[in-house]
Amino acid sequence: MGNNNENRKKKKEKPKYNAWQNSWFMIKLAWQTKEKKILVLCVLVATFAVLKNLLELYVVPTILSVVERKASIEEMLLTILGFVGGMMLVSAGAAYVGENTLYGRVTLRLGLIGMLNKKSSTTSYPNLFDEKFDKLTKSALEAVGTNERASEAIWKTLTDLLKNVIGFVIYVSLIVLVQPILLLVVLITTIIGHCANRYANGYKYRHRKEEAEAIGQMVYVRDRARDYSAAKDIRVFGLRSWLEELFEKAMEAYMAFHQRCQRAYLWAKVADVGLTFVRNGIAYGYLIYLVLEQNLSTAEFLLYFSAVSGFAAWVLGILENLNILHRQSIDITAIRECLEYHEPFAFENGEMLEVESNKKYEIKLHKVSYRYPGTDVDILKEVDLTLHPGENLAVVGLNGAGKTTLVKLICGFLDPTEGQVLLNGVDIRTYNRADYYKMFSAVFQKFGVLAATIAANIAQTEDDINIVRVKECAEKAGLCEKIDALPEQYNTLLNREVFEEATMLSGGETQRLMLARALYKDAPVIVLDEPTAALDPIAEYDMYQKYNEMTKDKSSVYISHRLASTRFCDRIILLENGVIAEEGTHKDLMQKGGKYAELFAVQSKYYQEGESDNEK
Ligand code: ADP
Repeated sequence: MGNNNENRKKKKEKPKYNAWQNSWFMIKLAWQTKEKKILVLCVLVATFAVLKNLLELYVVPTILSVVERKASIEEMLLTILGFVGGMMLVSAGAAYVGENTLYGRVTLRLGLIGMLNKKSSTTSYPNLFDEKFDKLTKSALEAVGTNERASEAIWKTLTDLLKNVIGFVIYVSLIVLVQPILLLVVLITTIIGHCANRYANGYKYRHRKEEAEAIGQMVYVRDRARDYSAAKDIRVFGLRSWLEELFEKAMEAYMAFHQRCQRAYLWAKVADVGLTFVRNGIAYGYLIYLVLEQNLSTAEFLLYFSAVSGFAAWVLGILENLNILHRQSIDITAIRECLEYHEPFAFENGEMLEVESNKKYEIKLHKVSYRYPGTDVDILKEVDLTLHPGENLAVVGLNGAGKTTLVKLICGFLDPTEGQVLLNGVDIRTYNRADYYKMFSAVFQKFGVLAATIAANIAQTEDDINIVRVKECAEKAGLCEKIDALPEQYNTLLNREVFEEATMLSGGETQRLMLARALYKDAPVIVLDEPTAALDPIAEYDMYQKYNEMTKDKSSVYISHRLASTRFCDRIILLENGVIAEEGTHKDLMQKGGKYAELFAVQSKYYQEGESDNEK
């Protein structure tokens, strides 16, 4: 029950923007993104379509009036030629602008894809595990997925709508010229016809449960007849005739349902024909009266009568366009809601932070607690921790102890649920988060190798690459030999998903690439989150040497599951149950004989056993 109510509430939830707001949004976007031609082409396409219609409307009455007036042959020929020429020009114009509508529309849609990609890649980190944002991103990406989707198809709808509105206004003026009441008759009969049609078309949908029930019963009988487990019952209890009866009843219900649908369609058609009859009858009657009583010419009679009978098409066109626009608007709302999704972090609206690689920075966690959204456990509880300038801090603890969460809080990927992260005494929420990220050179467990050259991957940019520094960093990271051996060297492309000819680096080589990247960035704080998890022990040992060298004059936070690798750090903290359970140098902690010492003993034993196993 509760669920049903919720569903109903969800269904009733109004979209954030209506069709007009979304149309205006798209028009503004086209204007601002220098795709103004989309708008010009929409107006041109609509204008040509209306012109074509008007030429068709006027051609016969005009020629007739020329004949009626017994005008000269030249005038007759000129009139005919004028119309033929006009038709040709308008058709050619319509074809030309029609051909050119695609490009701007595609560019704008691709622009929207770019905007959505930018939002996803720069959004506040917590949004990435926010289910609502995830759903919105998916809907938004679908809405920009193909030419047929709203982000592009809306231009056709708006063009058609404009065409129908212009046509409507012109026809209204024509009919009003004859008799305003006639307009009322035409409008009312058209709208009633439209409503009857909608009612008939919706009949099947409104009564879909009846159809589903009958189909369900027929499927049930079909499946039972083949159901091996029911076979004995069917035979022993003579259920066959009962099943046949059930099937027949269901089939009758199904057929009766379709007959009712057909009847609804038929009545709608009858109503439509009747209404057209009334409309045309009244128009005919009135126009004949005008011919007889007020000397209306035959040509005018024909013109006004064509206007009356053609009027419905504009009205129905407008109603249909509004219907489509409403549906497309839902897609555009998804795009907008995704782009406008709330950013819990400050970016451009935050204070600027100028990060200098040689400046001393102190990062302090003050009574920091953190709980992931939608959960009820504090992963960290009132943690107080200071990373002093130039200090090398190691964070250890069992899996799930909260080490990565701690690092995410330090790096500003997450904001504390309670407490503060302070940079030189200032809450980091004050700053533009993008500036704050400049504080860190990081090597994480999961690497992000970009589809670009090795040089671009190290420099993290495609232009302004300082190749001398790139080489220095590759050298320090121990990757130089490998790169020099490649035919394209630093211009070698990486990532096979994008480039077929790309080179694949091994786990260890990728690791070194990430190290070179961190070195190139030369940020004041280095963060290493179990960066050697995928390496064999020798490569791992070599990597530790490099990290030690790299972190010499900098602050660093180092998460490692290998306790031996942390002994070179200035300070080690052990996380347990969301708090710092132990803290000190390797020597201090070993002397203390607590959890750290226990873990260290287990790991040492494991490695020694591993070694002796290998020897065996
Ligand atoms: P560690 O790095 O010490 O292995 P983590 O910081 O990765 O630990 O995770 C600590 C706890 O937080 C784990 O219990 C994990 O399941 C939970 N956790 C991590 N990420 C999320 C998330 N996005 N949503 C909910 N819980 C999470």
